Amino acid sequence: MSESLPPISDGWPVLEPGWVWLCGAGPGDPGLLTLHALNALRQADVIVYDALVQKAILEWAPQAEHIYAGKRGGKPSAKQRDISLRLVDLAQEGKRVLRLKGGDPFVFGRGGEEAQTLIQQGVHVRIIPGITAGIGGLAYAGIPVTHRDVNQSVTFVTGHDQSGATPSSLDWQAIAKGSQVIVIYMGMKHVEQIAGALLEAGRPADEPCAVVCSATTPEEQVLETTLAEMSADIAASGLEPPAILCVGRSVLMRQVLDWQALARGEAPRNTDPLGRGRPAEVS
Ligand code: SAH
Repeated sequence: MSESLPPISDGWPVLEPGWVWLCGAGPGDPGLLTLHALNALRQADVIVYDALVQKAILEWAPQAEHIYAGKRGGKPSAKQRDISLRLVDLAQEGKRVLRLKGGDPFVFGRGGEEAQTLIQQGVHVRIIPGITAGIGGLAYAGIPVTHRDVNQSVTFVTGHDQSGATPSSLDWQAIAKGSQVIVIYMGMKHVEQIAGALLEAGRPADEPCAVVCSATTPEEQVLETTLAEMSADIAASGLEPPAILCVGRSVLMRQVLDWQALARGEAPRNTDPLGRGRPAEVS
């Protein structure tokens, strides 16, 4: 073990009373927290956390009050503005406030709105990015979000808008045509419509897809399927959100890169799933 890692104290940012640190907790596995997140957990008086933040992470801050501000699947339960104003109140009471959100706070997490409200109310803010589920969750499933032989671009989309409907502002035709790999957050509810729109726009019926549920947690489950079968396969499997849907040939790489299966002693299913017929790194 290295003796030279610095303790998170001297020279690290101090969470001052009256400040709010808006922090990503990563997709689930506590080991995917950043050191800045850990530094924040150690200092907070109060932690306002979302539904997707794992309990184990909160247990690392026993000194803090833990306030649940969950909202799932576009349900109107906890109003966004109420959460933001609660943060303002806590800061104005002189608390050291940690606002902890799943993944990255600025990726489909309304972190931008919360930070804006705080700043408009004169509250000091620090932003701590996190590992987003659409990248880190796929990596745990053995799916590289980019791969040189597959894609030079990746599109992140949300499967529903603020009202819970499929986002009307999205041009699925354009996404289908222009996106080599599509990573869909909050896509479970409308998977049938989304897959249908992509098929209608010309994506192949047999295009590889993956559904990665509760990624990086002990409940992680991965379904490999095709675009035409994704919706029925999800229904048949009984898989539940949270899930990331990935549409594209990078899903094939899981046949060689499913490192969790390898760690369990399984053999790779196919060491050349893209059929290159040559070593991975000959350019
Ligand atoms: N800010 C978060 C996303 C919040 S939106 C981030 O950067 O990851 C909530 C959606 O994120 C879920 O519906 C799901 O699509 C995805 N998500 C978050 N955590 C996940 C996990 N552990 N496994 C699979 N999907 C997850």
